Amino acid sequence: GCAVHFARPQSLVPPGRRKRGNGAQPVSGPIRLGLVGLGKIARDQHLPAIAQTEGIELVAVASRNAALDGVASYPDLDAMLAGDPGIDAIVMCQPPQPRFPAARTALLAGKHVFLEKPPGATLSEVEALIAIAAQQNRTLFASWHSREGAAVDQARDFLAQASITSVHINWKEDVRVWHPGQHWIWEPGGFGVFDPGINALSILTKILPEPVRMVAADLQVPSNCAAPIKAQLRMESSSAIPISAEFDFLQTGPQSWDIIVETIAGQLLLSHGGNRLALPGAPTITSAEQEYPALYRNFVNCVRSGESDVDLAPLRLVADAFMCGRMHLADPFVE
Ligand code: NAP
Repeated sequence: GCAVHFARPQSLVPPGRRKRGNGAQPVSGPIRLGLVGLGKIARDQHLPAIAQTEGIELVAVASRNAALDGVASYPDLDAMLAGDPGIDAIVMCQPPQPRFPAARTALLAGKHVFLEKPPGATLSEVEALIAIAAQQNRTLFASWHSREGAAVDQARDFLAQASITSVHINWKEDVRVWHPGQHWIWEPGGFGVFDPGINALSILTKILPEPVRMVAADLQVPSNCAAPIKAQLRMESSSAIPISAEFDFLQTGPQSWDIIVETIAGQLLLSHGGNRLALPGAPTITSAEQEYPALYRNFVNCVRSGESDVDLAPLRLVADAFMCGRMHLADPFVE
């Protein structure tokens, strides 16, 4: 089955992983997939991962300005749906802002939907998609690629048995290196430094055995942007374990995507975005990154078994940081 992500207990919405109702039309043969938004992540990760996943084949792309050799290419989603009514599923690789109308259109056309992270620009729009997917009896899959980091499950298993005393997250990268020309990231709904930061929160909410709440946040917002460039977060688990995080989009030199967990037995260091793990008294675990192939395997399993998988915990923490955070005006950002 596709039992990789579970709904977190703090979820107020119906559990993230739910069976679709009766009467699902099982897809026989490979799942015929259409991709919307042929940008950086689609080319870097989705195309190679789809190519190596059994049970799914890319049959169409929708892009405002690009085409893909050997695959039917359409200018937008509506043209793709009209041009190939036999498509089973659509993957949404656009930025969060244009994602909702496209996902709703695809679900209403009877397609299964795979969402890049974050699953939406707001919590309420993702709740709406959950309801439409249930009504349409189709799979809605909210992907969290960092949860598929090679060492994340081992970290979770270790922490399930550990006495945790504190957690600290350092998520510091150079936006000019990793997000060149991505103006959407600075617009409302673009998340700013929470675009990478939500990946840390997705790992945190997978590896900790308890729900996490946002306590306080300091957000530095450039005077010419709508989204923060730095964030300091204070969180707490349900048993009051202190959790702090520093997100920085202006980090030059060494980059860090690290989660440090102090336990009575010693320190756990999950680094390289969930792909390397140092445990007290054990050799460092490093494996090749296989995040997107794992996501596609999970998606295929969800479609085949008639389930949806939408865990809103990481998005809820971001929303809460914006709700309880103090905004500070920072220097304008010039790329
Ligand atoms: P991107 O290259 O800037 O944009 C992706 C594509 O989305 C664009 O090429 C464009 O496709 C379409 N698009 C952009 N703005 C649009 C708009 N206003 N309306 C409709 N379509 C629009 O961004 P990306 O880095 O691939 O990121 C896309 C999503 O993937 C984000 O949610 C991001 O968080 C996530 N992600 C990114 C990375 C990464 O390393 N970059 C890693 C993991 C996840 P067409 O021109 O083909 O229409």
